[in-house]
Amino acid sequence: MRDIDATHDPQLLSWVDSANQPGSDFPLQNLPFAVFRRAGSGEPLRCGVAIGEEVLDLTALGAAAPREDLVLTALAACAAPALNPLLALGPPAWRALRRALSQLLSAGSPHAARLAAALIPQSQVEFALPAHIGDYTDFYTSIHHATAVGRLLRPEQPLLPNYKWLPIAYHGRASSIAVSGQRVRRPHGQLMARGAQRPVLAPTARLDYELELGVLIGPGNSCGEPVPIERAEEHVFGLCLLNDWSARDIQAWEYQPLGPFLAKNFATTISPWVVTLEALAPFRAPWGRAPQDPAPLPYLDGAALRAAGALEIELEVALQSAAMRERGLPPERLAQSNFRDSYWSIAQMLAHHTVNGCNLKPGDLLGTGTQSGPHSGQCGSLLEMTAGGARPLTLQSGEQRTFLADGDRVILRGWCERPGFRRIGFGEAAGTVLPAAP
Ligand code: MN
Repeated sequence: MRDIDATHDPQLLSWVDSANQPGSDFPLQNLPFAVFRRAGSGEPLRCGVAIGEEVLDLTALGAAAPREDLVLTALAACAAPALNPLLALGPPAWRALRRALSQLLSAGSPHAARLAAALIPQSQVEFALPAHIGDYTDFYTSIHHATAVGRLLRPEQPLLPNYKWLPIAYHGRASSIAVSGQRVRRPHGQLMARGAQRPVLAPTARLDYELELGVLIGPGNSCGEPVPIERAEEHVFGLCLLNDWSARDIQAWEYQPLGPFLAKNFATTISPWVVTLEALAPFRAPWGRAPQDPAPLPYLDGAALRAAGALEIELEVALQSAAMRERGLPPERLAQSNFRDSYWSIAQMLAHHTVNGCNLKPGDLLGTGTQSGPHSGQCGSLLEMTAGGARPLTLQSGEQRTFLADGDRVILRGWCERPGFRRIGFGEAAGTVLPAAP
């Protein structure tokens, strides 16, 4: 569990003015990491942190870099074209680097003039995936999502008996994960119409998004050595936004008995910025269960989990159609949910993933599954929002949607707010639907 320390002080201001604006996602208290270069430059990719509207190039600190072994080791790792070397170092190095960056970027830092040369406006950079993602696993941690989807598939038994005992997941596809800005070609697949005798190969007519968080793994574990829940978060670097694009008609036909396959592996979009668990420390909440629900098995339970295992992260999905873009209309919010409503925590996901000895590696990515809340307006997918396509929604532009149309741009956002702390944000994960290939 990461502690609240001087880097979270809400009074801290930066000499980078844009970081001090009240609505900024990237105040000094956040310091999320990304991989970037100047747009169109062909420069080597390297690691940076967000401060206000700028990126601090971590390979350009020069003489401002503190002479402290852990910090220098962490900074050396940031010259790589992916966060993996930094991820492998673990929490002591991450903490040391955060403390150093907080001091360097604080108002009154003697290094301000020198460091100004290491700032590049975010509007002038292009981002790459934050890490080389070796393996990707997508969970199903929202009981509200699982129940709503289950109700559509199996009205008599929406929630299967294993749901309250283990964090359900499937192994996803890493090769088609891309950073925000992804253009997603509408996939073809086998579709089996209700009452039809045989399936057809056709473009999906039920393309959907899923509002999720991604969990970026730090140091791995050896094969055969489970990670106990009380140490699970030592293996987590941070969180990003994740859109698990899904073709519901392909999914409905193919998913039994082995789970999602081609309905999910054609595209996944993540945000460029990874918000560290250190930055999220002020936004912890107790994790608990309703009294009528079973207590988890001991390997999925613990005092730290009960005290502060949940995270309060507001999540939002917005949509902008091609017609809205042409008319200059802004994206329209479709839903908002909060990760605190998740049935399973990040530590439980990790403890369960490794309980059989499965080895995680630095840069592995875990999806939380679609985050939906208990109330209307909190649906993390169109499947839930439109009751499987039965209740179309009308956008402010007058257009109707059951599922996504070509040209639709889907934008995920996330942020944390709590009295006594600075608001921090995740930026966005956006992607646009392209027509199916002819
Ligand atoms: Mn998913």
